[in-house]
Amino acid sequence: MDLTSPRVIRDIQNKFGFTFKKGLGQNFLTSRDILTKIVDSLENETDVLEIGPGFGTLTAALAERMDKVVSVELDDRLLRVLEYTLGDFDNIKIVRGDVLKLDLRSLIKDEFGEKNVSVAANLPYYITTPVITRLLEERLPLNNIVVMVQKEVAERITASPSSKEYGAITLLCRYFCEPSIVTAVPASLFVPQPKVDSAVLKLRLLPKSAVSAEDEKLLFRVIKAAFSQRRKTLLNCMCSAFPVAKDKMSKILTEAGIEPSRRGETLSLDEFAHVSDNLIKILRQ
Ligand code: SAM
Repeated sequence: MDLTSPRVIRDIQNKFGFTFKKGLGQNFLTSRDILTKIVDSLENETDVLEIGPGFGTLTAALAERMDKVVSVELDDRLLRVLEYTLGDFDNIKIVRGDVLKLDLRSLIKDEFGEKNVSVAANLPYYITTPVITRLLEERLPLNNIVVMVQKEVAERITASPSSKEYGAITLLCRYFCEPSIVTAVPASLFVPQPKVDSAVLKLRLLPKSAVSAEDEKLLFRVIKAAFSQRRKTLLNCMCSAFPVAKDKMSKILTEAGIEPSRRGETLSLDEFAHVSDNLIKILRQ
């Protein structure tokens, strides 16, 4: 069964009376070429956690190469469909649940033991940032995260300092991984066709974080604060977010080697780590 064929997708819809739910981001991929690129980008991985199988098109492509694929789907209506489309595979397990609520650490441990796994997903766009943030901040045992995201999100995550795309999510990803764009994916390759183009983003997890900060949570708070009001200077953003007087905050920044009138988007991850490490001394006083 060629699950990338729009005709096959329509036949399955008719067989099960299935209608796409926009609210669940149900835009199904119809390109074998893109599926191959996603699977190839996982290199020598053997175990994959998939998010959102839909009719199972990426799930099947993964299962052809992997030892085991565990796939989390929120929409109950798809469970019967997936039994039909993926019934011939004995290395796929479908788990019904919301990826934002499931205990992913326990799921990975129960299904894959002590091994590291990779995540593959064609994510609904409205949950892209929360899912990526969760996968990274929870420090799950992952090798790679390969996700289809809105083109603009892929550009934001791979952006350089001082560009308009550079933001908190860029730095969060840089802290934990090496990001790259695997391929662009035009909207025409999905049914139903979304309004925006996509890209496959690969996040290769680093063996240790890119910079060392004394308090990781504080570093992320500093980064979020710096981008909370893009038109304001770093000094003003920091004063709004932390209970520190302006002259003291100015000193913290200057001692970290940062001119207080700079804007958050001009700072590198390293510079944010210096600010965070200087701030911690004052907060602890
Ligand atoms: N993997 C299929 C493909 O590539 O054609 C379908 C991708 S479709 C963009 C997104 C899938 O994620 C849908 O099957 C949808 O029901 C599912 N989904 C949406 N929100 C979810 C959530 N919070 N947790 C798990 N799955 C979710």
